[in-house]
Amino acid sequence: MPNLKQQLADIKLLMQYAVPPPELATAAALVEKHSTDRVSLNIFQAFYSYLPEGLEDAIAVLRLLERRQGTFLICASTTLSDYLYLATSEQAEFLGLLAEGIWEEEVLAFFNLENREAFFKKYAPLTKFPVYVPAHLHHDLCPFCHVADGEIHTLGCPVEICPWCGGQLTSCACRFTRLGKADLTSEGQLEELLTLLNKKGRVPFSAEEHRPAYPLTPLDLE
Ligand SMILES: [Zn+2]
Ligand SMILES: [Zn+2]
Repeated sequence: MPNLKQQLADIKLLMQYAVPPPELATAAALVEKHSTDRVSLNIFQAFYSYLPEGLEDAIAVLRLLERRQGTFLICASTTLSDYLYLATSEQAEFLGLLAEGIWEEEVLAFFNLENREAFFKKYAPLTKFPVYVPAHLHHDLCPFCHVADGEIHTLGCPVEICPWCGGQLTSCACRFTRLGKADLTSEGQLEELLTLLNKKGRVPFSAEEHRPAYPLTPLDLE
């Protein structure tokens, strides 16, 4: 993953070309506010790298529509329009205009939406959805992969507990001994490990037990 400071610098550089000059200060302040949050930085980077309308524009607000297993459905609103992004701490994908809804069946199914109509029914009006709060400020989310309390971590998350030894799954030796391999190099081996893990039963994230004690602020709430 890119270093946060570098990513922020890259976004600010992109913004010099993408944002109408009078809006630059406000737009940059919004990005700055999210400077420690990978999920939203990925959205800013995607937006300012590839302006959806091909016109100078700036994100004014991010709203959270859905969150599941560390994947966030976020609407980025500008003075021109509202855009949907699917984002994780790894990447952000532009889905299209909010007004056109979601077409991808895989995405609809992931968020338990029957079809495009169901999407429109649920997400209008947009203003009832909360302004996105950086994921790491939520005490009920895994600080690394951002899954919620009771959900299974993204494979490779350093917070996941090993179901065999109770240690840290990314650093204990169980993955090698279980597969009988000295290292894990191929996708196939990862699949095999995942099958073994699922058979054993993975340890879901517990906000109470597994999250390091971060001080909480009232920001968490609104
Ligand atoms: Zn995690
Ligand atoms: Zn282990």
